[in-house]
Amino acid sequence: MVLLEWAEANRAAPYTVHIVGESWTGRAFELRETLQQCAVSHHFCLADSPEGRALVASAPAGARLPLVVFPDGRVLQNPTNLEISRATGGPIDQNQSDFDVIIVGAGPAGLSAAVYGASEGLSTMVVDKGGIGGQATSSSLIRNYLGFPRGISGRLLAQNAYSQAWVFGANFTFMQTVTDIAREDGQLFVSLSDCGRLRASAVLLAMGVSYRRLGVPALEALIGAGVHYGGSTSEAPAMVGRDVFVVGGANSAGQSALHLAQYARRVTLVVRARSLRDGMSDYLVRQVRATENIQTRLGCEVAVGEGSIAIQLLHQYFAIEQLSPHGSSGDPTSAVV
Ligand SMILES: Cc1cc2nc3c(=O)[nH]c(=O)nc-3n(C[C@H](O)[C@H](O)[C@H](O)COP(=O)(O)OP(=O)(O)OC[C@H]3O[C@@H](n4cnc5c(N)ncnc54)[C@H](O)[C@@H]3O)c2cc1C
Repeated sequence: MVLLEWAEANRAAPYTVHIVGESWTGRAFELRETLQQCAVSHHFCLADSPEGRALVASAPAGARLPLVVFPDGRVLQNPTNLEISRATGGPIDQNQSDFDVIIVGAGPAGLSAAVYGASEGLSTMVVDKGGIGGQATSSSLIRNYLGFPRGISGRLLAQNAYSQAWVFGANFTFMQTVTDIAREDGQLFVSLSDCGRLRASAVLLAMGVSYRRLGVPALEALIGAGVHYGGSTSEAPAMVGRDVFVVGGANSAGQSALHLAQYARRVTLVVRARSLRDGMSDYLVRQVRATENIQTRLGCEVAVGEGSIAIQLLHQYFAIEQLSPHGSSGDPTSAVV
């Protein structure tokens, strides 16, 4: 178990999917996000790195970047999300469109409902616009969930919950947004973005939350080029030797800061409150304070941001080094919101 967790944390598991791109940003970033949302272990490298050159050489001549290389040797060239979904499993079963219950959202709430619905013998379909796990997949180490004394990564928790629901007979459809729910003749019809309509006796909505934005337009333009919402664990290895700013003062921010501190030179936690204890659990506050390369700036808000990045904080000011919108591997600074 300990070795499996270590392999998971170090992306050394044998099922790792490789992404090869010309830069960290653009479609290569979207693909990393997609695989992260599917809780698929993956590793990114630049096409002009030794590893990238070897992977490109193993693909058909003239293959279009970015490439997605699966452990069984399959290579997808600049794939769509639907192609990734099919390649990673979970395509919709076109022969079945009637279910007792359809669950919208495969985060922890949707997965729990799938386990209990399917275990009671209900024909159950779970639909998610991403993959499994919802927000939990970006959690590096969940320590307050019952039954895991040393904690568990959100991704592993989601994978286990997915397997559990699947063993009970639940069906899954990924990369499909539910666009409409209608009632006709006492039946419920759920429309999917690419795969038609499904019928159900009951629909359970487990769509979680969507993130509030910082409201700094210039930083929105840099999403994927050094600015990330949600503290995706898959981005952490790219932060080696860099300075990272984490904006937020609750548990997700604390957890992200601790995870990023294993890679970054320095992590600065930017918090609006006057005390970390206002929003963060005690076990995280103690870990944050004990980590040498995390510093905390209390009573601050991000007021302004620029492409050549200077993030200006209300009350306090930092001039941050250049952040290229093209996100070359040499970017010195990143912000996680
Ligand atoms: C970095 C981070 C660390 C965290 N750490 C912890 C922790 O240590 N302990 C803890 O208790 N909690 C933690 N949390 C919070 C926890 O992850 C959330 O409370 C939990 O994921 C909420 O589950 P949910 O199923 O309600 O919603 P979500 O996880 O938000 O899942 C909702 C799902 O619905 C899907 N969806 C939305 N709209 C549609 C649509 N129209 N069609 C199809 N699908 C749709 C989304 O794609 C998503 O997958 C953390 C969160 C983050 C971001």
